[in-house]
Amino acid sequence: MASRLFKRTATSQLSKLSLPTTTTRTQLRKRCYASAAAVPTSSSIPVHDRAQIKHEASLPNPDPAEDSPTTTFLAQSTPFMVPTYVRPPPMMVKGQGSLLYDNENREYVDFTAGIAVNSLGHADPEVSRVIAHQAQQLIHASNLYHNPWTPTLSKLLIQETQKQSPGSELSQVFVSNSGSEANEAAIKFARKVTYAKDPSTTQRDIVSFHESFHGRTYGSLSATPNKKYQPPFGPMLPGFRYGTYNDVAGVKDLVTENTAGVIVEPIQGEGGVNVATPEFLQALRKRCDEVGAVLIFDEIQCGLSRTGDLWAHTASGVHPDILTTAKALGNGIPIGATLVSGKTVAPFIKTGDHGTTFGGNPLACRVAHHVFERLAKSKLQEEVRAKSKLFFNASETLNQKFPGVIKEVRGRGLIIGYQLSDEAKSKSTEIITAARERGLLVITAGDGVIRIVPPLVISEDEITRGLAILEQAMEVVFNKSDDVTPTKGQQEFGSR
Ligand code: PLP
Repeated sequence: MASRLFKRTATSQLSKLSLPTTTTRTQLRKRCYASAAAVPTSSSIPVHDRAQIKHEASLPNPDPAEDSPTTTFLAQSTPFMVPTYVRPPPMMVKGQGSLLYDNENREYVDFTAGIAVNSLGHADPEVSRVIAHQAQQLIHASNLYHNPWTPTLSKLLIQETQKQSPGSELSQVFVSNSGSEANEAAIKFARKVTYAKDPSTTQRDIVSFHESFHGRTYGSLSATPNKKYQPPFGPMLPGFRYGTYNDVAGVKDLVTENTAGVIVEPIQGEGGVNVATPEFLQALRKRCDEVGAVLIFDEIQCGLSRTGDLWAHTASGVHPDILTTAKALGNGIPIGATLVSGKTVAPFIKTGDHGTTFGGNPLACRVAHHVFERLAKSKLQEEVRAKSKLFFNASETLNQKFPGVIKEVRGRGLIIGYQLSDEAKSKSTEIITAARERGLLVITAGDGVIRIVPPLVISEDEITRGLAILEQAMEVVFNKSDDVTPTKGQQEFGSR
């Protein structure tokens, strides 16, 4: 009965989908299968992979079977990739708004948005048009020359930030290619400030927090005190110290006269959707001012209207000296940006202090300019706040249906974490798998948190549909657990 129900929903959603006028459903299917048919077909599937593709036979959206074109293709081609990720079996080939389609034309409601990246949804026609137009004009000419879009994007980022975070002193931007690079620039700039004031200074430490995630490059990784990421790559950079998130009393001893900078996420994403209290951010601001350290807010995951405000920190009334952003800024085109204060940082950064080949290229900057302009709109922000309520309300329904399973709901806007209880948290992988095989993509975070970061443009119907699938998945996992076999996938480990 349930599976029949879901089949019906999926079909009706597909027919409602507004595809480009020249693309019919049959053409979409043909295109997906055409790419599937082009892949190699003879293969022996490694035992390890075979173990990952077990699924319930009666599912509406089962993972690709072991003799499917997808599995055959992947078995032949993925051995050529450095295996830094474990992925679940489906292969995504197309997106449309908040829906994704795999190689075998299964449809998924996307509550992940490419890990908080595709805020305007997949294959947005305007974004596609801007990319195509700029690609025909100029993609790259290097930072040796001016182009129209790096300064235009920088100006918009600053003006809109000053408008929506009144009192902000952020006044200049360094554009790079990713979140990690935006944080590398921030860490370097923080150290440059104290060095510029006194080249013999001992004020070099960078403070960050447990459960944070700032990236995988050495500076950003050194600021990410996580046992999963640091130990194989030690030693980390010297001078990094770690504190407890939201520990106001600990701030005084943590941030000292030797501290050059403090980096903190106003909402920790990977760490489990942990929200900083205003008191904590205020205490960090006060202590940084006392010792002359630079306060860096990493809004790479929680910024750009995901909370319903342009920046997540604005509600706390605290302003940073540096703000980093990336992810949703390009809606999928790689870009990062480091915004710096005109008073406490910019005067100390000189020609040659930092650089990048690709950062600030006209293609990425023009796309980001278009994306940011749309994400900064108050109408979109209001809609984010309204949609958020659906997820908070749903958690109450889920709580009644599955008592003791969800311990807490955290987050704001459309960055939401359902923290599973100690008894239930070992089941997070199974929930993710069961949801996927019913047509919903969700990810985990932290310690047993179901993380929800959908496109900000997701419709209320799509939210309702996705939440119904999540409920079905939890029903199977908690009330009929013999029916589901978890398949491993990188997103299910919450490790980026
Ligand atoms: N900072 C935060 C808060 C993040 O969530 C991430 C990525 O998940 C990063 C930094 C690193 O960004 P990137 O993967 O683009 O280097």
